[in-house]
Amino acid sequence: MSTAAAFKALARDTCGQLLSLSGLTAPAARLGQRLSIVTFHRVLTEPQRQRYPLPGLAVTPDELDAHLKFLTRHFQCLSLNTALDRWEQDRTAGLPLLAITFDDGQLDNYQNALPVLEWNGVTASFYVPSLVLENTAPLWHDAMAAAVAWLTDPSSGQSMPLDPSRRAEAGELLAGLQPGGEHQRLAGHTAVEAALEVTKQWSPSQREAWLLRAEGVLPRTVRPGWDGFMNVQQMKDLVARGHEIGSHSHSHALLPQCTDDELRAEIAGSKQRLEAALGAPVTTFCYPNGSTDPRSMAQVREAGYRAAVTTQWGSNAWADDHYRLQRFNMNAKHAQDRQGRFSEARLAWRMSGLHPGLTGARRDPCSGTPA
Ligand SMILES: [Zn+2]
Repeated sequence: MSTAAAFKALARDTCGQLLSLSGLTAPAARLGQRLSIVTFHRVLTEPQRQRYPLPGLAVTPDELDAHLKFLTRHFQCLSLNTALDRWEQDRTAGLPLLAITFDDGQLDNYQNALPVLEWNGVTASFYVPSLVLENTAPLWHDAMAAAVAWLTDPSSGQSMPLDPSRRAEAGELLAGLQPGGEHQRLAGHTAVEAALEVTKQWSPSQREAWLLRAEGVLPRTVRPGWDGFMNVQQMKDLVARGHEIGSHSHSHALLPQCTDDELRAEIAGSKQRLEAALGAPVTTFCYPNGSTDPRSMAQVREAGYRAAVTTQWGSNAWADDHYRLQRFNMNAKHAQDRQGRFSEARLAWRMSGLHPGLTGARRDPCSGTPA
Protein backbone atom coordinates (compact mmCIF):
# COMPACT_ATOMS: atom_id res chain seq x y z
CA MET A 1 0.00 0.00 0.00
CA SER A 2 1.38 3.44 -0.90
CA THR A 3 1.89 6.06 1.81
CA ALA A 4 -1.03 8.10 0.43
CA ALA A 5 -3.34 5.06 0.41
CA ALA A 6 -2.23 4.11 3.94
CA PHE A 7 -2.94 7.64 5.15
CA LYS A 8 -6.36 7.62 3.46
CA ALA A 9 -7.22 4.28 5.10
CA LEU A 10 -6.11 5.59 8.53
CA ALA A 11 -8.14 8.78 8.05
CA ARG A 12 -11.19 6.71 7.04
CA ASP A 13 -10.92 4.45 10.08
CA THR A 14 -10.41 7.39 12.45
CA CYS A 15 -13.32 9.32 10.98
CA GLY A 16 -15.60 6.27 11.21
CA GLN A 17 -14.62 5.70 14.85
CA LEU A 18 -15.15 9.35 15.82
CA LEU A 19 -18.55 9.45 14.14
CA SER A 20 -19.48 6.21 15.88
CA LEU A 21 -18.36 7.48 19.30
CA SER A 22 -20.27 10.72 18.79
CA GLY A 23 -23.44 8.72 18.05
CA LEU A 24 -23.90 10.57 14.75
CA THR A 25 -23.93 7.37 12.69
CA ALA A 26 -26.00 5.29 15.14
CA PRO A 27 -28.73 3.49 13.14
CA ALA A 28 -31.41 4.51 15.65
CA ALA A 29 -30.50 8.18 15.12
CA ARG A 30 -30.18 8.02 11.34
CA LEU A 31 -32.62 5.33 10.20
CA GLY A 32 -35.48 5.28 12.74
CA GLN A 33 -38.94 5.08 11.10
CA ARG A 34 -37.25 4.37 7.76
CA LEU A 35 -37.06 1.01 6.02
CA SER A 36 -33.48 -0.10 5.37
CA ILE A 37 -32.77 -3.02 3.05
CA VAL A 38 -29.41 -4.76 2.71
CA THR A 39 -28.36 -6.81 -0.31
CA PHE A 40 -26.14 -9.87 -0.45
CA HIS A 41 -25.48 -12.10 -3.44
CA ARG A 42 -23.19 -15.08 -2.99
CA VAL A 43 -22.18 -16.56 0.34
CA LEU A 44 -19.01 -18.55 -0.37
CA THR A 45 -16.23 -20.05 1.69
CA GLU A 46 -12.88 -18.37 1.11
CA PRO A 47 -11.58 -21.11 -1.26
CA GLN A 48 -14.85 -20.89 -3.22
CA ARG A 49 -14.64 -17.10 -3.41
CA GLN A 50 -11.12 -17.33 -4.78
CA ARG A 51 -12.50 -19.35 -7.69
CA TYR A 52 -15.41 -16.97 -8.34
CA PRO A 53 -14.69 -14.29 -10.97
CA LEU A 54 -16.77 -11.59 -9.20
CA PRO A 55 -15.47 -11.80 -5.61
CA GLY A 56 -16.97 -8.40 -4.74
CA LEU A 57 -20.40 -10.07 -4.91
CA ALA A 58 -19.49 -12.69 -2.30
CA VAL A 59 -19.20 -12.69 1.47
CA THR A 60 -17.96 -15.65 3.50
CA PRO A 61 -20.26 -17.20 6.14
CA ASP A 62 -18.08 -15.53 8.83
CA GLU A 63 -18.42 -12.15 7.13
CA LEU A 64 -22.19 -12.63 6.84
CA ASP A 65 -22.28 -13.52 10.54
CA ALA A 66 -20.34 -10.35 11.46
CA HIS A 67 -22.76 -8.24 9.42
CA LEU A 68 -25.79 -9.91 11.02
CA LYS A 69 -24.39 -9.56 14.56
CA PHE A 70 -24.19 -5.80 13.97
CA LEU A 71 -27.52 -5.54 12.16
CA THR A 72 -29.52 -7.54 14.72
CA ARG A 73 -28.25 -5.31 17.54
CA HIS A 74 -29.49 -2.17 15.81
CA PHE A 75 -32.48 -3.26 13.68
CA GLN A 76 -35.50 -5.55 13.54
CA CYS A 77 -34.18 -7.84 10.78
CA LEU A 78 -36.86 -9.47 8.62
CA SER A 79 -37.76 -10.56 5.12
CA LEU A 80 -38.95 -7.66 2.98
CA ASN A 81 -42.55 -8.87 2.93
CA THR A 82 -42.72 -9.06 6.74
CA ALA A 83 -40.83 -5.77 7.14
CA LEU A 84 -43.39 -4.10 4.87
CA ASP A 85 -46.23 -5.48 7.05
CA ARG A 86 -44.63 -4.03 10.20
CA TRP A 87 -43.83 -0.75 8.46
CA GLU A 88 -47.49 -0.47 7.46
CA GLN A 89 -48.72 -1.22 10.98
CA ASP A 90 -46.47 1.03 13.07
CA ARG A 91 -43.41 2.90 11.94
CA THR A 92 -42.42 4.01 15.43
CA ALA A 93 -42.36 0.72 17.34
CA GLY A 94 -39.03 -0.74 18.46
CA LEU A 95 -35.73 -0.75 16.62
CA PRO A 96 -35.59 0.54 13.03
CA LEU A 97 -36.78 -1.95 10.39
CA LEU A 98 -34.33 -3.70 8.12
CA ALA A 99 -34.99 -6.26 5.39
CA ILE A 100 -32.27 -8.73 4.43
CA THR A 101 -32.20 -9.69 0.75
CA PHE A 102 -30.18 -12.14 -1.34
CA ASP A 103 -30.18 -11.77 -5.13
CA ASP A 104 -29.97 -14.48 -7.81
CA GLY A 105 -31.23 -17.65 -6.06
CA GLN A 106 -27.81 -19.29 -5.80
CA LEU A 107 -27.37 -22.66 -4.12
CA ASP A 108 -24.79 -21.16 -1.75
CA ASN A 109 -27.62 -19.08 -0.25
CA TYR A 110 -29.21 -22.28 0.95
CA GLN A 111 -26.02 -24.11 1.85
CA ASN A 112 -23.98 -21.30 3.41
CA ALA A 113 -26.32 -18.41 4.28
CA LEU A 114 -29.29 -20.26 5.76
CA PRO A 115 -27.39 -21.68 8.79
CA VAL A 116 -25.96 -18.23 9.57
CA LEU A 117 -29.40 -16.61 9.28
CA GLU A 118 -30.87 -19.26 11.57
CA TRP A 119 -28.29 -18.98 14.34
CA ASN A 120 -28.80 -15.20 14.25
CA GLY A 121 -32.57 -15.73 14.45
CA VAL A 122 -33.49 -13.71 11.36
CA THR A 123 -35.47 -14.26 8.18
CA ALA A 124 -34.64 -12.95 4.71
CA SER A 125 -35.92 -12.53 1.15
CA PHE A 126 -34.35 -14.52 -1.68
CA TYR A 127 -34.82 -13.14 -5.20
CA VAL A 128 -34.91 -15.90 -7.79
CA PRO A 129 -35.03 -15.62 -11.60
CA SER A 130 -37.80 -18.10 -12.53
CA LEU A 131 -35.73 -19.48 -15.42
CA VAL A 132 -33.67 -21.44 -12.89
CA LEU A 133 -36.73 -23.59 -12.17
CA GLU A 134 -36.05 -25.34 -15.47
CA ASN A 135 -32.56 -24.31 -16.61
CA THR A 136 -29.65 -24.29 -14.19
CA ALA A 137 -27.03 -22.91 -16.58
CA PRO A 138 -25.21 -19.89 -15.10
CA LEU A 139 -26.98 -16.51 -15.42
CA TRP A 140 -25.59 -14.46 -18.30
CA HIS A 141 -23.51 -12.14 -16.12
CA ASP A 142 -21.85 -15.09 -14.38
CA ALA A 143 -21.24 -16.90 -17.69
CA MET A 144 -19.68 -13.76 -19.16
CA ALA A 145 -17.61 -13.10 -16.05
CA ALA A 146 -16.21 -16.65 -16.13
CA ALA A 147 -15.31 -16.31 -19.82
CA VAL A 148 -13.74 -12.88 -19.37
CA ALA A 149 -11.79 -14.06 -16.33
CA TRP A 150 -10.35 -16.86 -18.41
CA LEU A 151 -9.54 -14.58 -21.36
CA THR A 152 -7.78 -12.01 -19.14
CA ASP A 153 -5.99 -14.58 -16.99
CA PRO A 154 -6.05 -18.13 -18.35
CA SER A 155 -4.44 -19.41 -15.14
CA SER A 156 -7.46 -18.27 -13.11
CA GLY A 157 -9.85 -21.07 -14.11
CA GLN A 158 -9.76 -24.77 -13.47
CA SER A 159 -9.65 -25.50 -17.17
CA MET A 160 -7.58 -27.09 -19.89
CA PRO A 161 -5.14 -24.83 -21.78
CA LEU A 162 -6.41 -23.05 -24.88
CA ASP A 163 -5.93 -24.77 -28.21
CA PRO A 164 -3.21 -22.61 -29.95
CA SER A 165 -5.33 -22.44 -33.13
CA ARG A 166 -8.02 -20.54 -31.19
CA ARG A 167 -5.71 -17.84 -29.77
CA ALA A 168 -6.49 -15.24 -32.43
CA GLU A 169 -10.23 -15.67 -31.91
CA ALA A 170 -9.82 -15.45 -28.13
CA GLY A 171 -7.95 -12.16 -28.66
CA GLU A 172 -10.82 -10.86 -30.83
CA LEU A 173 -13.37 -11.76 -28.16
CA LEU A 174 -11.39 -9.86 -25.54
CA ALA A 175 -10.80 -6.88 -27.83
CA GLY A 176 -14.58 -6.44 -28.12
CA LEU A 177 -14.78 -5.90 -24.37
CA GLN A 178 -12.34 -3.06 -23.96
CA PRO A 179 -13.89 -0.40 -21.76
CA GLY A 180 -14.33 2.99 -23.33
CA GLY A 181 -16.15 6.21 -22.56
CA GLU A 182 -17.69 6.43 -19.11
CA HIS A 183 -16.85 2.82 -18.19
CA GLN A 184 -13.16 3.64 -18.19
CA ARG A 185 -13.79 6.01 -15.35
CA LEU A 186 -15.28 3.47 -12.97
CA ALA A 187 -12.29 3.49 -10.66
CA GLY A 188 -11.68 0.37 -8.60
CA HIS A 189 -13.35 -2.03 -11.03
CA THR A 190 -11.45 -5.21 -11.81
CA ALA A 191 -10.88 -6.10 -15.47
CA VAL A 192 -13.78 -8.57 -15.29
CA GLU A 193 -16.15 -6.02 -13.76
CA ALA A 194 -15.16 -3.36 -16.31
CA ALA A 195 -15.72 -5.80 -19.20
CA LEU A 196 -19.10 -6.78 -17.78
CA GLU A 197 -20.13 -3.13 -17.67
CA VAL A 198 -19.33 -2.91 -21.39
CA THR A 199 -21.56 -5.90 -22.21
CA LYS A 200 -24.50 -4.33 -20.34
CA GLN A 201 -24.62 -1.70 -23.06
CA TRP A 202 -25.07 -4.41 -25.70
CA SER A 203 -28.40 -5.81 -26.86
CA PRO A 204 -29.38 -9.23 -25.46
CA SER A 205 -28.68 -10.82 -28.87
CA GLN A 206 -25.17 -9.29 -28.98
CA ARG A 207 -24.45 -10.76 -25.55
CA GLU A 208 -25.83 -14.11 -26.62
CA ALA A 209 -23.70 -14.13 -29.79
CA TRP A 210 -20.55 -13.23 -27.80
CA LEU A 211 -21.22 -15.99 -25.29
CA LEU A 212 -21.89 -18.54 -27.99
CA ARG A 213 -18.63 -17.65 -29.71
CA ALA A 214 -16.75 -17.75 -26.39
CA GLU A 215 -18.18 -21.20 -25.70
CA GLY A 216 -16.73 -22.42 -28.98
CA VAL A 217 -13.30 -20.94 -28.32
CA LEU A 218 -12.63 -21.51 -24.63
CA PRO A 219 -11.61 -24.87 -23.27
CA ARG A 220 -14.17 -26.77 -21.27
CA THR A 221 -14.31 -25.70 -17.64
CA VAL A 222 -15.58 -27.98 -14.91
CA ARG A 223 -18.30 -26.15 -12.99
CA PRO A 224 -17.73 -26.57 -9.24
CA GLY A 225 -20.50 -28.31 -7.29
CA TRP A 226 -21.32 -25.19 -5.25
CA ASP A 227 -21.97 -23.13 -8.38
CA GLY A 228 -25.64 -23.72 -9.10
CA PHE A 229 -29.10 -22.64 -8.03
CA MET A 230 -31.45 -23.64 -5.25
CA ASN A 231 -33.95 -26.26 -6.37
CA VAL A 232 -37.70 -26.04 -5.76
CA GLN A 233 -37.51 -28.23 -2.66
CA GLN A 234 -34.88 -25.96 -1.11
CA MET A 235 -36.95 -22.87 -1.96
CA LYS A 236 -40.02 -24.48 -0.38
CA ASP A 237 -37.96 -25.28 2.69
CA LEU A 238 -36.95 -21.60 2.97
CA VAL A 239 -40.62 -20.55 2.77
CA ALA A 240 -41.55 -23.15 5.42
CA ARG A 241 -38.87 -21.67 7.70
CA GLY A 242 -40.40 -18.19 7.39
CA HIS A 243 -38.20 -16.77 4.65
CA GLU A 244 -39.53 -15.15 1.49
CA ILE A 245 -38.99 -16.10 -2.15
CA GLY A 246 -39.40 -13.07 -4.42
CA SER A 247 -39.11 -12.69 -8.17
CA HIS A 248 -35.88 -11.54 -9.81
CA SER A 249 -37.54 -11.60 -13.28
CA HIS A 250 -37.50 -14.69 -15.47
CA SER A 251 -34.11 -14.57 -17.19
CA HIS A 252 -32.28 -11.80 -15.26
CA ALA A 253 -32.89 -9.59 -18.30
CA LEU A 254 -32.09 -5.89 -18.26
CA LEU A 255 -35.72 -4.77 -18.29
CA PRO A 256 -35.38 -1.44 -20.12
CA GLN A 257 -34.04 -3.45 -23.10
CA CYS A 258 -37.19 -5.62 -23.24
CA THR A 259 -40.23 -5.23 -25.49
CA ASP A 260 -43.62 -4.92 -23.76
CA ASP A 261 -44.35 -8.62 -24.36
CA GLU A 262 -40.95 -9.62 -23.02
CA LEU A 263 -41.55 -7.43 -19.98
CA ARG A 264 -44.81 -9.26 -19.27
CA ALA A 265 -43.03 -12.61 -19.42
CA GLU A 266 -40.22 -11.35 -17.17
CA ILE A 267 -42.44 -9.64 -14.58
CA ALA A 268 -45.94 -11.21 -14.50
CA GLY A 269 -44.72 -14.50 -16.00
CA SER A 270 -42.01 -15.03 -13.37
CA LYS A 271 -44.52 -14.39 -10.58
CA GLN A 272 -46.90 -17.03 -11.98
CA ARG A 273 -44.13 -19.59 -12.51
CA LEU A 274 -42.65 -19.15 -9.04
CA GLU A 275 -46.07 -19.23 -7.37
CA ALA A 276 -47.02 -22.40 -9.27
CA ALA A 277 -43.74 -24.10 -8.31
CA LEU A 278 -43.77 -23.03 -4.66
CA GLY A 279 -47.49 -23.11 -3.95
CA ALA A 280 -46.98 -19.78 -2.14
CA PRO A 281 -47.60 -16.15 -3.06
CA VAL A 282 -44.74 -14.12 -4.53
CA THR A 283 -45.33 -10.52 -3.54
CA THR A 284 -42.10 -8.57 -4.04
CA PHE A 285 -39.87 -8.03 -7.07
CA CYS A 286 -36.19 -7.25 -7.55
CA TYR A 287 -35.05 -5.50 -10.76
CA PRO A 288 -32.08 -7.34 -12.30
CA ASN A 289 -29.01 -5.11 -12.26
CA GLY A 290 -31.25 -2.48 -10.64
CA SER A 291 -32.25 -1.43 -14.16
CA THR A 292 -35.69 0.16 -14.23
CA ASP A 293 -37.74 2.42 -16.44
CA PRO A 294 -41.33 3.68 -16.20
CA ARG A 295 -42.64 0.74 -18.29
CA SER A 296 -41.09 -1.92 -16.06
CA MET A 297 -42.22 -0.19 -12.87
CA ALA A 298 -45.77 0.09 -14.22
CA GLN A 299 -45.81 -3.61 -15.11
CA VAL A 300 -44.51 -4.61 -11.68
CA ARG A 301 -47.43 -2.72 -10.14
CA GLU A 302 -49.96 -4.17 -12.60
CA ALA A 303 -48.71 -7.71 -12.04
CA GLY A 304 -49.81 -7.45 -8.40
CA TYR A 305 -46.51 -7.14 -6.55
CA ARG A 306 -46.71 -4.96 -3.43
CA ALA A 307 -43.17 -3.53 -3.72
CA ALA A 308 -39.94 -3.75 -5.69
CA VAL A 309 -36.29 -3.17 -4.88
CA THR A 310 -33.62 -1.43 -6.93
CA THR A 311 -29.88 -1.17 -6.42
CA GLN A 312 -29.84 2.55 -5.70
CA TRP A 313 -27.88 3.11 -2.48
CA GLY A 314 -29.98 4.41 0.42
CA SER A 315 -32.84 3.80 2.87
CA ASN A 316 -36.55 4.50 2.38
CA ALA A 317 -39.19 6.81 3.84
CA TRP A 318 -42.81 5.63 3.94
CA ALA A 319 -43.80 8.28 1.42
CA ASP A 320 -41.24 7.04 -1.12
CA ASP A 321 -42.31 4.98 -4.15
CA HIS A 322 -42.60 1.37 -2.93
CA TYR A 323 -41.85 0.18 -6.47
CA ARG A 324 -38.42 1.79 -6.37
CA LEU A 325 -37.10 0.89 -2.93
CA GLN A 326 -33.42 1.64 -2.33
CA ARG A 327 -30.97 -0.81 -0.80
CA PHE A 328 -27.53 -0.97 0.80
CA ASN A 329 -25.33 -3.39 -1.13
CA MET A 330 -23.07 -5.28 1.26
CA ASN A 331 -19.49 -5.72 0.07
CA ALA A 332 -17.18 -7.38 2.61
CA LYS A 333 -14.25 -5.09 1.79
CA HIS A 334 -16.29 -1.96 2.38
CA ALA A 335 -17.07 -3.00 5.95
CA GLN A 336 -13.44 -3.63 6.88
CA ASP A 337 -10.91 -1.45 8.66
CA ARG A 338 -7.37 -1.01 7.35
CA GLN A 339 -6.30 -4.26 8.99
CA GLY A 340 -9.00 -6.15 7.12
CA ARG A 341 -11.15 -6.70 10.22
CA PHE A 342 -14.93 -6.23 10.16
CA SER A 343 -15.64 -2.66 11.29
CA GLU A 344 -19.05 -1.82 12.72
CA ALA A 345 -18.11 1.86 12.71
CA ARG A 346 -17.35 1.75 9.00
CA LEU A 347 -20.56 -0.07 8.11
CA ALA A 348 -22.68 2.26 10.27
CA TRP A 349 -21.06 5.25 8.58
CA ARG A 350 -21.75 3.88 5.11
CA MET A 351 -25.41 3.25 5.99
CA SER A 352 -25.87 6.57 7.79
CA GLY A 353 -26.32 8.81 4.77
CA LEU A 354 -23.31 10.84 5.97
CA HIS A 355 -20.67 8.97 3.93
CA PRO A 356 -19.39 10.99 0.97
CA GLY A 357 -19.54 9.46 -2.51
CA LEU A 358 -22.42 7.03 -1.96
CA THR A 359 -24.71 8.62 -4.47
CA GLY A 360 -25.53 5.62 -6.65
CA ALA A 361 -23.13 6.74 -9.37
CA ARG A 362 -20.93 3.66 -9.10
CA ARG A 363 -22.35 0.26 -9.86
CA ASP A 364 -21.44 -3.25 -8.95
CA PRO A 365 -21.32 -5.90 -11.66
CA CYS A 366 -24.49 -7.85 -11.04
CA SER A 367 -26.66 -5.41 -9.32
CA GLY A 368 -25.50 -1.94 -10.20
CA THR A 369 -25.01 -0.71 -6.66
CA PRO A 370 -22.48 1.87 -5.59
CA ALA A 371 -19.21 0.20 -4.74
ZN1 LIG B 1 -29.17 -10.30 -9.90
